[in-house]
Amino acid sequence: MTDLDLAGLRTQLVDLHRELVRWGLVAWTAGNVSARVAGQDLMVIKPSGVSYDDLTPESMVVCDLDGNLVDGALSPSSDTAAHAYIYRHMPHVGGVVHTHSSFASAWAARAEPIPCVLTAMADEFGGAIPVGPFALIGGDEIGRGVVETLAGHRSPAVLMKNHGVFTIGPDARAAVKAAVMCEDVARTAHLARSLGEPVPIPQSAVDSLHDRYRNVYGQR
Ligand SMILES: [Zn+2]
Repeated sequence: MTDLDLAGLRTQLVDLHRELVRWGLVAWTAGNVSARVAGQDLMVIKPSGVSYDDLTPESMVVCDLDGNLVDGALSPSSDTAAHAYIYRHMPHVGGVVHTHSSFASAWAARAEPIPCVLTAMADEFGGAIPVGPFALIGGDEIGRGVVETLAGHRSPAVLMKNHGVFTIGPDARAAVKAAVMCEDVARTAHLARSLGEPVPIPQSAVDSLHDRYRNVYGQR
């Protein structure tokens, strides 16, 4: 988990919202990143309806884990209740991302899990990317759907039926990476499906790839 303080998280969230734009995951203002403030039962999240170009560290909103405003001149994202529910019920989660990225949301519109047909999916998601229930915005419905779906999966991403993507991570940067990778594999699986039937990877190979990626890959 990140050890950034509140000021550091505010700055990091401005940069991470720019990553959503850079990777083509958002239209207009529809997408948000939040981060848990370590050890404080607080979260930092995007202000509602503010364009990504206009975000500053000071404009970020601090809320408690019930979604109540603690510090900020602007209203928090309309998805705050969902982010807060996830932090309350998943203590290992330090960052949450929500987007309506196109290819992943197309799978969500069909309520179809993205099958594990690429080694990159086995690496990052450890299997298929699951579908969560249809849920209306505002109360705990979306957050509960995310938590109940991800609790039984290795995937850090869930496709909420008829809606879009939620991703989680040990910190906000990891959750953004999962959102970028989710859209990437959603696009490739869509292209594969459009020309034929993608071939699943055997479960034993999925397990081995996922284990290697988590424990061996990258800089140690
Ligand atoms: Zn949404």
